[in-house]
Amino acid sequence: MKEVSSLSLDKMKEFRMKPDRILIDQLCKCCWVTCPFCAAVCTNTLEDHSPDDHNVPFHRPSGINGWHKRNTVELSVDFCTTDVASDGRFYPHHDSEEVIPYKQYRTAGPGYADWRITADTSQLKYWTWFVCRFQKQLEDHYKLKFEGSGEIPSQWKTHSKEAAIKSLDEMFGL
Ligand SMILES: [Zn+2]
Ligand SMILES: [Zn+2]
Repeated sequence: MKEVSSLSLDKMKEFRMKPDRILIDQLCKCCWVTCPFCAAVCTNTLEDHSPDDHNVPFHRPSGINGWHKRNTVELSVDFCTTDVASDGRFYPHHDSEEVIPYKQYRTAGPGYADWRITADTSQLKYWTWFVCRFQKQLEDHYKLKFEGSGEIPSQWKTHSKEAAIKSLDEMFGL
């Protein structure tokens, strides 16, 4: 006897999400809010901070989250921490022409206003290695390219996997 599965895709996704999610929820009261630029997860705990002050010690190149130069296929290799110190601007909403200077990103509305992104030039090696290692997967996923303004710096390609993993120690404060 055979039976067709009646599980919806959504339901299956829910199951897939659950085990790890439950575990982590039990182990820590993590915040889970993601950076609007690079999607790094806020590392504060819920008890730890006010809801309008999310932050994370290390951001990532925003192309990992699909940010790209408008009307081009050029993915961004810029870290948000660099962007917020720059004179560049961004479109906070996909379907709007509204432009916000990066230096005033907190005025871009919900999702931006409640993040504290400290301007600096840090580039965690893990993420530069990650972009090189998964360049093709990211490009295929977003149907965009790391080219032009989003060309991967050649220096990033010199980082070994070991150095990348070692840099995670720094991220976790070990
Ligand atoms: Zn970020
Ligand atoms: Zn938070």
